[in-house]
Amino acid sequence: MSETIFHKIQRREIPADIVYEDEHLFAFRDIAPQAPVHVLFVPKQDFATLNDVPDDSAAVIGRLATAAARYAKSQGFSEDGYRIVMNCNGDGGQTVFQIHLHLLAGAPLGRFGTPG
Ligand code: 5GP
Repeated sequence: MSETIFHKIQRREIPADIVYEDEHLFAFRDIAPQAPVHVLFVPKQDFATLNDVPDDSAAVIGRLATAAARYAKSQGFSEDGYRIVMNCNGDGGQTVFQIHLHLLAGAPLGRFGTPG
């Protein structure tokens, strides 16, 4: 997989507001937030898209989701609610080809899934 901007963020080579890191993943605020809270969770194991994650690495995806849920709880908005999203390839709107999970929260979110 090619180097991405997220590798540079992980190595602190470009600035980002990193809100969480452990041995498996790191999380930072999106530079162009689509909700009052918009945090990206990125695994340290590299995959370009969700299509590239083999069955025996399913835990990588599970950890992203549970880390987002823990973060929501720690920030006090888990009961109000939130959305997690993973975009895949062109029709999914993926722009950075290193898998990541979006956590969106902080206000009632609109419906989703419409073409556009
Ligand atoms: P995707 O479109 O691939 O699902 O999501 C990529 C996300 O990365 C976008 O929401 C975009 O705003 C965010 N992003 C791209 N470049 C940077 C950056 O340099 N810093 C931060 N914090 N976020 C970025």
